[in-house]
Amino acid sequence: MANKINQYIIDKGFKAPKETDKTGKIPVHNSYRNGKGRPEGVVVHETANPTSTIGGEISYMQGHYKDAFVHEFVDGQNIIGVADTDYLAWGAGYTANSRYIQFEQVRVHSKDDFAKELLNGANFVANVLKKYNLKPSDSTIVTHHQTSNMFHETDHTDPDAYWTTSASKWFSTTYKIADFIWLVKYIFDGKAPLKPTTPNKPVTPSKPKPAKKIAEDGEGGVATIKLAQKIAGTTQDGVITGQYAPNAKYWPKIHQMNTKYSNGGSLFVVTLQKKLGFKGKDLDGQWGKKVSTALNSKLGFKNKSAFDKTSVLAWQKKLNSGKLF
Ligand SMILES: [Zn+2]
Repeated sequence: MANKINQYIIDKGFKAPKETDKTGKIPVHNSYRNGKGRPEGVVVHETANPTSTIGGEISYMQGHYKDAFVHEFVDGQNIIGVADTDYLAWGAGYTANSRYIQFEQVRVHSKDDFAKELLNGANFVANVLKKYNLKPSDSTIVTHHQTSNMFHETDHTDPDAYWTTSASKWFSTTYKIADFIWLVKYIFDGKAPLKPTTPNKPVTPSKPKPAKKIAEDGEGGVATIKLAQKIAGTTQDGVITGQYAPNAKYWPKIHQMNTKYSNGGSLFVVTLQKKLGFKGKDLDGQWGKKVSTALNSKLGFKNKSAFDKTSVLAWQKKLNSGKLF
């Protein structure tokens, strides 16, 4: 049984527009936890800004991608891609980001635009699910609110309020994630008249390649950091960015520390801290005494705060076995 709004979309014969590609301005390419091109589903967002436009939202996000970004935006007329869905986005907290593609609904202001926006969002979701060999279900299509409840890393509850208010105002009904999944499934199954407008060919996800071995010489250079980044699933540039220079005494043999900026931290170090069991404020992306001591401990050196030649050598052996520590 279709929700009243889904039925309205079908009865009206609305068609989704072709997707517009505006990707390329976000230079962040971190793989999902299962690897590049291996998302596990899609998170549904809503901007919560009653007066913004899709163009304004996108240019703001492109200018502030270091704070947060999603893959896609929709409104009543547009489906616009802004980040490559092969790589993760930063819109819903560490754990959700490492698993899901993410799209934003911009607030729209009429009955038909709201219906079309749902159709456009559902079209996008149906297409990416096909592309990554996933199927519509309540585990592959989730709201930001649901990921907040699952992982407790954000407190956002979108798009619940926006859907509830709009569905009530224009259709005297409700709209919930189950209704959206129903619509995605309808499109995914190719039912007339809502066939996907931009069918993507299914891709076979690339298998993670075995990492190349690095020299075990106790010198933490580019190759060592690149391999560690590869295992951690973060950008493999061989450099640890945003480090606090006075911490240098804790990493005498890690040469690839970018201390140009006194703060900011590194996503690789955050990932390392997570895996070392750090929580809350300790996830600051700074390689300091705590990180060196914890990593040393994992490598068999107790109560040692300097990551020296012996430590790097032990770390290189671990990295060569495909483990972060
Ligand atoms: Zn959100």
